Amino acid sequence: MRVAMISEHASPLAALGGPDAGGQNTHVAELAAALADQGHDVRVYTRRDEPHQDPVVPLGDGVKVLHVPAGPAEPTPKDELPPYMPEFGRWLVRHWEDDVWRPDVVHAHFWMSGLAALTAGRQTGVPVVQTYHALGTVKRRHQGAADTSPPRRIRYERMLGRSVDRVIAQCADEVDELTRMGIRRSAITVVPSGVNQRIFTPDGPAARRDPGRPRLLGVGRLVDRKGFQDAVRALRAVPEAEYVLVGGPPAARLTDDGYARRLRALAASEGVADRVHLVGAIPREEMARWYRSADLLVATPWYEPFGLTPLEAMACATPVVGTAVGGLTDTVVPGVTGDLVPPRDPEALGAALRRLLADADRRRRYGVAAVERIRTGYSWTRTATRLSAVYTAVCGAPQTSGAVA
Ligand code: UDP
Repeated sequence: MRVAMISEHASPLAALGGPDAGGQNTHVAELAAALADQGHDVRVYTRRDEPHQDPVVPLGDGVKVLHVPAGPAEPTPKDELPPYMPEFGRWLVRHWEDDVWRPDVVHAHFWMSGLAALTAGRQTGVPVVQTYHALGTVKRRHQGAADTSPPRRIRYERMLGRSVDRVIAQCADEVDELTRMGIRRSAITVVPSGVNQRIFTPDGPAARRDPGRPRLLGVGRLVDRKGFQDAVRALRAVPEAEYVLVGGPPAARLTDDGYARRLRALAASEGVADRVHLVGAIPREEMARWYRSADLLVATPWYEPFGLTPLEAMACATPVVGTAVGGLTDTVVPGVTGDLVPPRDPEALGAALRRLLADADRRRRYGVAAVERIRTGYSWTRTATRLSAVYTAVCGAPQTSGAVA
């Protein structure tokens, strides 16, 4: 099939670690490659955010990335992108009408992509599949007044869910959210992300470490909701351990990063500054070295739509101590591949870390079980196969009618 993937802000070509570049970029890159491996012809449409970007960039066999001129040709925070989505949608319509390449199905990633995809899909008769990656209702609940999302996000997300041909949820928690928003359960198919099992393997080189100090690893964009501050607070409970945090801007620019500065100040006030190390952004191909170097991945989000980093750690046989939120409640099996604690609870986290660091045998068993769980349940091939079935189904089914806002 010809599959158009829309990922307005998250380019599969982007470097990861910045505030708007993380799991969605990885997801789109890996999914596009896995679909192409199965014989699909895939084009990923993302916003042009530099003036001299090539309009079309090949990404491996069978995948092309197209840079869509919609809005300023410069990096723009994703919350400022909604006004450019009509232009994005119109560009797709022109492109699909003029070009010999017209997709069989369009798969939108994130709600703003959904707006552009629905506009284009309805005008050209191409069915639309929607993956949200994150939901405005959840963000609003957790961030309250600090939520910078555009005001109409939640309304648009509901409209999309009721209008597109199929909604893809990544975990059971997301299904609950979507149905609470008023989206029919029958419109939703659960397809979790996978993990690249060629890159993320138990064996292979590991980042250098002090063999005398247990290593706790945190990974992610440096934003409050990842809860890294809770892990820093928990460090007092494990006085022998170090906490290594990968992500954010490149190492040389960490001093300019407000969150990194606050985290360092917190570490100083907690008396653990000598045991907290911020590494900065690491290229994706090198991430496995960091997971392998750690005794535990400490994944502490306050909420998490899916969470790729626990899967990546598990694929490297590194057990996870995580918060019992979102996708982690599906992916981490407590007492088998890791342990789960309540979010925003440094005390419970500290106790779980202390217990697991004191028990090498349990850690080893968790690591073995984690690899097994990944091998049997979380490959991108599996994700692509399940999505191919969805694409086939929506192409055969008559389209539901729905107003485009
Ligand atoms: N990542 C990376 N380099 C970094 C930090 C993160 O390649 O310095 C990758 C990480 O391996 C994972 C993704 O960014 O694939 C983060 O995805 P996750 O779902 O955990 O979080 P999100 O960014 O979607 O909130």
